[in-house]
Amino acid sequence: REAVSSDASLDDRQVEGALRPRALDEFVGQKRVREQLSLVLDSARRRNRAPDHILMSGGPGLGKTTLAMIVAAEMGAPLRITSGPAIERSGDLAAVLSTLQEGEVLFLDEIHRMARPAEEMLYVAMEDYRVDVVVGKGPGATAIPLEIAPFTLVGATTRAGMLPAPLRDRFGFTAHMDFYSPEELEQILNRSAGLLGAPLAEDAAREIAGRSRGTPRIANRLLRRVRDYAEVRGDGHLSLRTARAALELYEVDELGLDRLDRAILDVLMNRFRGGPVGLSTLAVSVGEEAETVEVVAEPFLVRSGFLARTPRGRVATPQAWAHMGLTPPPDAAF
Ligand code: ATP
Repeated sequence: REAVSSDASLDDRQVEGALRPRALDEFVGQKRVREQLSLVLDSARRRNRAPDHILMSGGPGLGKTTLAMIVAAEMGAPLRITSGPAIERSGDLAAVLSTLQEGEVLFLDEIHRMARPAEEMLYVAMEDYRVDVVVGKGPGATAIPLEIAPFTLVGATTRAGMLPAPLRDRFGFTAHMDFYSPEELEQILNRSAGLLGAPLAEDAAREIAGRSRGTPRIANRLLRRVRDYAEVRGDGHLSLRTARAALELYEVDELGLDRLDRAILDVLMNRFRGGPVGLSTLAVSVGEEAETVEVVAEPFLVRSGFLARTPRGRVATPQAWAHMGLTPPPDAAF
């Protein structure tokens, strides 16, 4: 393995790419998903066929893109990457599908945000490796069937429940990506530090892991900030003290809550007396899209026991009041 930090021309995004595991056995955690995937891939290799279509569900930064790249690498197949929002019309999808090579892995990120007509085209492509290209308009329009190469679709979504059933059913299996344990994050951090050539102390790794919200992307990002701090303000060593100072500077608290998390709790408690309050009201109050609040912040807040989703809206829990150092009103809804 080569260190990547010595190359000053790499920016942060490129570093993120360089830290991606390239093979299934380098991929840390998600043991069940790895086992399921390895079986699907082994069996496809034995039969010399493209593996079944795979759906990955899980929050941002848990490794969906990484796994899609690994699927292609393990199959020795080319990879094409696109996303739901990039497919506005069925023609956009037809252009992609009709140019796939045999065995190619098509990664479709945010598949739940694809346009409806494209979705229907995808059903046929997934099942019959065929695209019906519509020529003409109105009553004279005809569909010309076009055969396409057998391929493997890897779809990613933040919630499998958001997909229409006919689409969901066409995947051979769904990989449910969970948050990572602190130990797994520590392993990821040590691996990344090694690749970056950054000397990371054991207690510092534990500290960063504990503040990474169960998410590898966040762990790697915090690692880079601690490294910056160590290089600019310290002696280059990523010690526990450096880690704590850097994370304080970046407003990541000891449980990993960041500005947005704390803004949500703050608004919920100080403006809405702890709730219940609806998602969209909450989102507007913190100046974010509802989807960002729901997908990025809430899962972690709920999992940490700070926020409860009730039929009447979001509610701050007693732990949340305690964490923010506030006293709940006597009539607070828990
Ligand atoms: P999004 O859906 O937001 O694009 P994602 O789930 O596709 O997110 P990735 O881009 O695959 O997430 O992963 C983010 C970063 O975390 C990558 O740089 C990768 O290096 C790292 N990473 C993710 N999962 C793992 C893992 N299991 N082991 C080691 N590193 C990982």
